[in-house]
Formats: sequence, structure tokens, C-alpha cells
Amino acid sequence: MNFHIARNLILLPLTIGILFIAATSTRAEVTLASAEAPIPTALIAKVNTAVAADTPRLTAIFKDLHQHPEIAFTETRTAAIVAKELKALGFIVTEGIGKTGVVGVLKNGPGPTVWFRADMDSNSIREATGLPWAATAQQRLADGSEIDVMHACGHDAHVTWLLGLAKTMVVMKADWSGTLVVYAQPAEEVGLGAQAMVEDKLWQRGFPKPDYAFGAHTVPGPVGVISSSPGVRMAGTDQLDITFNGIGGHGSTPQMTIDPVVMAAQAVLSYQTIVSRNLDPQTSAVLSVGSIVAGRDNNVIPETSVLKLNLRWFTPEVRQQMLKRIDEINNGVAIAAGVAKDKMPTRLMKGNAGPLVNDKALVARINPSLEELMGKGKVIDQFPAVMGSEDFQEAFKSLDTPYAFILVGVAPPELFAKARAAGRPFPYSNHNPDFFVDLAAIPIGAKVNAVAALSILAKRP
Ligand SMILES: [Zn+2]
Ligand SMILES: [Zn+2]
Repeated sequence: MNFHIARNLILLPLTIGILFIAATSTRAEVTLASAEAPIPTALIAKVNTAVAADTPRLTAIFKDLHQHPEIAFTETRTAAIVAKELKALGFIVTEGIGKTGVVGVLKNGPGPTVWFRADMDSNSIREATGLPWAATAQQRLADGSEIDVMHACGHDAHVTWLLGLAKTMVVMKADWSGTLVVYAQPAEEVGLGAQAMVEDKLWQRGFPKPDYAFGAHTVPGPVGVISSSPGVRMAGTDQLDITFNGIGGHGSTPQMTIDPVVMAAQAVLSYQTIVSRNLDPQTSAVLSVGSIVAGRDNNVIPETSVLKLNLRWFTPEVRQQMLKRIDEINNGVAIAAGVAKDKMPTRLMKGNAGPLVNDKALVARINPSLEELMGKGKVIDQFPAVMGSEDFQEAFKSLDTPYAFILVGVAPPELFAKARAAGRPFPYSNHNPDFFVDLAAIPIGAKVNAVAALSILAKRP
């Protein structure tokens, strides 16, 4: 997930920052949506004790995962660690779902089935944190090429939290009843991992079907503050490639060519009018061109150019309107350039995910327990929706499972306060080379996971 923050690039992050500030202030009153009783304090105390005892192991796992990042669909080392740890805890483990996905099932008597997800993949970024456990090696891909690689979105923390949840629930087996399924998903960053697991028959393998599903994600808010908010949380997204076909030639004789570089440039500028001039100004959407690839030499006009686009939207209608306008602009640019009818631009649809919408009743059910764990005012339940995206929910689309996706602050509070004093919403961002997870957030994420699961599975007196 990344925080391509909404429509208003300045105001929303500030709002988010202010909410995190509010949550860190003792005076703040954060209202929770429900009157559901939290799980007993004795259970929260047991979670605290279990995770505290496990923290040295979890910290070691986290540092190891951080030093060995793996990009989308290559997470074999990470998946092997997940499988090994879950097997050691007594989970029934299935590996290799959607290439590298791992599912672990722990049946513990009658009751609901809860699925809990962590994503495993990293980003292609050169790490600049300078931390002792920073990733320094490049990753060699199957084609022999080497790329920079870094966990800049905290998926290493997500995996660690998942293993912390698994251990805690095993230690506390006498306190709950039902089925816990924990799973590690590949390739979130390219928006294809959840889909890959579903296409690899995730729901036809006989796993207990989820009554509820959870996921947790890092956010560079202060350690000790989380967001568990109902309703629409994140935008839907598409990744697509546009190819312009031209006629190549010598750079000195452009009149004998149809220049795909010029077509690409025209298209990029025209795309900017889709959000600003075609969509209702009251809707939120983003269209970003993340890559333009064309040619190699200074004096050669290439045959083709490829644009890599990313869309963010909240409704299928807006998505359709954006795709339609992209096609119209592409064809218009090509026709104006004199491209032949059989060489019109092509659009390749790649990763796709719908908006992430937290179930209101489920959020209302877990939040009192989460507040009991975190402390009064440390659970934000009004975090604004962001243009960031997730594919977590795609796994449950066909089942209509109610789910909740929780954001966990991972920045040192003093850094967060300093950033706020300087007028910045966060000290750093996901996907930046300086992104890092404060080690203090490692036990917190594990506890948040366990308390969310226990809100559903705990034996109630
Ligand atoms: Zn990300
Ligand atoms: Zn992410």
C-alpha cells in the first residue's frame, strides 16, 4: 500500500497528521462507534505478556526479513520462513498458492473462522536509512539482472506481526474457540498477489471459509497510535500500459517518421485534463504516469513508446470514465499524427483492485478491545480515506466476507512531533528510501493483531 494521498495534496496529509497529533494528545476525545464490551482486561494482560516474551524472537525475524527483501512473486525465502514458523507452532500449512502464498490453519474448537493476512513483497528502491539492519545487497532476478530492493512499505513488519499473532494465539489457546487462518500473500505492490492466490484455487482447497478477515499495515504515524476506521478507507486502482506505434527513422528526417515519443508526450499532457476537466470536481481520482519508455539513441526516432499508468478511483463509474477518456486521447493523438488504422495505440490492463471498505459492524466490534489495549484516545476511528490502495480485499470479493484493515503507527513519536513542528504531516513516507519501522512497533503490531482476532474468537463468560 502506498499513500498517494488524495485530491488535495496538501490538506489531506495535514488532516491525517492532525488526527495522529490529536490521538497522541491526552486531551483528545476520540469517539468509538460502538458500545460493544471489550474483551476482559485479563485477556489483554495475557496478550501483553505473551508478546513481551516473544519480542526478542520477533525482532530478530523482522531484522532478518528486512535485510532480505524480495520483490513481487519472488518471495520464496520469506514464504519459507513463514511456513517453517507456522509449522513449528502446529498450524497446518499449505505453500505455493499463487506462486509464493502460504496459508496456515489452526483449528481450536467450535466457533467462527477468522482469516488474517500479511503481504510479503518489497519495493525496488535503494535503501537510505543507514540502519544497522538496512538492506544493502541487490536482488538478482531470473533474467540475471540486478535491482535495488528494500522493504519500504513495511511488509516485513506485517509478516513479523502475523507470526507474533500466530504464536500468541497458540500460547492463549485455552482462552479462545474457533479457527484461526493466517496467510502470507505475495505481490501486493503490483496489485496481483491476492488475485493470484484466488486464481490458484484459494477457495477450492478445502480451507475453512472466513467469517471475518483482517489485515494490518504500517503508517508513518507515531508508534502507539493506530487507526481502525469504518467505511471506505482506500481507493480502487488499476495499473495499465499504453503502447504507441509509430514509424521509426533517422533523427534528422522526422518528416519520414511518425514519432511515438511526441505522441507519448502529447498523451501525458492530455491525460492531465481527465481529472481536471472530465470528472465531476467533487469526485476523487488520480491518474499518474510512472514511466515513459521509448528509444535508446540520441539520433534515432524509435518505433514505439510505452507509458505506464496508475489510476485511483472510488467508484466503477469513475474508473470507466477514466479508461474511456484514456482510449479517446490515445486514439485522438494517434489519428492526429497520421498513424494507420491497424496500428492504433494499445492498452494492456495489469493489476487491479477495488476500493477497500472496512465493515462498520466489525470495526465497532474490535475497537473497544483495541482501545483497551492501546489506551484511551490511541485508536483513531475517523482516519480520512486515502488514495492509497490495497489488494487485501480482493481475496474476499467472491465471498463477501466482512473485513477490517488496521493502520499501525511505526514512526518514533519524537520524529513525528518534530515533523509536525516543521509543518510536515509525517516524518517520512511509505515507499521512500528513508522509510523505516521503529522496533518499538514490532510488539505493538503483534498485539493489535491478537486483540483483533480475540475480539471475535475469545471465549466470553
Ligand atoms: Zn506499498
Ligand atoms: Zn504496503
